[in-house]
Amino acid sequence: MSDKNKSGSKDIFCSFCGRGASEAGIGQLITSPTGSAICRHCVQLCSDLYRKDQNRHENDEELSPAGAIAALEVPKPQAIKEMLDSYVIGQERAKKVLSVAVHNHYKRLQSQLEHPDKSAGFEDVEIEKSNVLMIGPTGSGKTLLASTLAKMLDVPFCICDATTVTEAGYVGEDVENIILRLVQAADYDIAKAEIGIIYIDEIDKVARRTENVSITRDVSGEGVQQALLKILEGTVANVPPKGGRKHPHQEYLQVNTDNILFICGGAFVGLEKIIQRRVGKQVLGFSRHTAKNKEVVESVEAKPELLVRYEPEDLIKFGLIPEFIGRLPVFSHLTQLNEDDLVKILTEPQNALIKQYQKLMAMEDVKLVFKPEALRALARKAVDKGTGARGLRSLLEELMLEIMFNVPSDDKVSSCTITAEVVRGESEPVLKKSRKAAAKAS
Ligand code: ADP
Repeated sequence: MSDKNKSGSKDIFCSFCGRGASEAGIGQLITSPTGSAICRHCVQLCSDLYRKDQNRHENDEELSPAGAIAALEVPKPQAIKEMLDSYVIGQERAKKVLSVAVHNHYKRLQSQLEHPDKSAGFEDVEIEKSNVLMIGPTGSGKTLLASTLAKMLDVPFCICDATTVTEAGYVGEDVENIILRLVQAADYDIAKAEIGIIYIDEIDKVARRTENVSITRDVSGEGVQQALLKILEGTVANVPPKGGRKHPHQEYLQVNTDNILFICGGAFVGLEKIIQRRVGKQVLGFSRHTAKNKEVVESVEAKPELLVRYEPEDLIKFGLIPEFIGRLPVFSHLTQLNEDDLVKILTEPQNALIKQYQKLMAMEDVKLVFKPEALRALARKAVDKGTGARGLRSLLEELMLEIMFNVPSDDKVSSCTITAEVVRGESEPVLKKSRKAAAKAS
């Protein structure tokens, strides 16, 4: 690039930063035959950028799978549980089971590196993989537990849905796409992805429809269990980098799933009844056979607490194949959240919903107050809905809509109080106007 400078003589300018030859220093501009130019400063900048990029790649190469494992800090089970406590309300046993399972999983990885002093005498002992099966009603915190764990450990994490997967060759996704999600969560860093956590939701939906082997193909049930088996156990999966169905002549990313921790979750509706039948408390045995009685007895007897007495054979009855259950050796169950839990969920976790709304309103200089009875009324409504903590969000959205719509435009409002009547739709929120703002307005 060239132009006239102040003195009228022809000057050359850097095509990147616009410095003239006089500014950059004589002889400091490199010109090209097409008329563009680059100054000494920009050359230096490019060179620095290039070097940084190269260093990053070199470091990445050093971060081999072993490097990634060595770099991992594995917290103690108690520390894991403490962290879970600040996000997840209740579910004490599930939190303990998961803390131990996760700690042991990453210890298992580190035991593959050499620690001769620590594992002396146990050289031949191989620690088996501890994939986890979590059973609990919807909205009880299964996904939340898994995602909080991943956040804490700083490993890649992804959530997938077992219902989207079908046996190879049928409409749906290949199981390898599950691994692809994790690779994407790790920014295509395979070494990192190989020590990540995958949460597979709705695993109960891949149960076989009946206990009998069907003559028709069950492409989304047993077929998927068979396909999942391999990746759960540990294999080198060929993952299509762009997802979709695998096809010949395609390049694959090779991902070893040996060290990936799989946490599978599902509601397993009806499992309690299977357990109950096994432990001998027949639902229909002792009641009079009226439809009403049957209903009452079932709701009283098929208690979620029965899940504590779970045995793998119950899941076989439910429709999972034994090999599949065998790959999920750690079992934890979550209980239905009660009213007290839901009140706590509204206010206690770091990211509690009420805190979020209070922050939003505080940004409008409005103090948002929820009366304790209002919280209880909200929790009761969520229990009635039967969607656990999941229902709280939609209830709050509905409750707060008008307030969030009107209050920001009214700069006289200084506080807004929500009572139980407001939650029940019997009255309007109590808005307080600040005297100063009201006086200003009048
Ligand atoms: P699911 O058991 O169906 O996987 P989720 O973990 O997705 O349920 O829960 C949905 C939402 O409900 C979460 O994002 C979280 O905000 C809230 N939640 C559920 N259970 C709990 C809990 N035990 N403690 C705190 N929040 C919870």
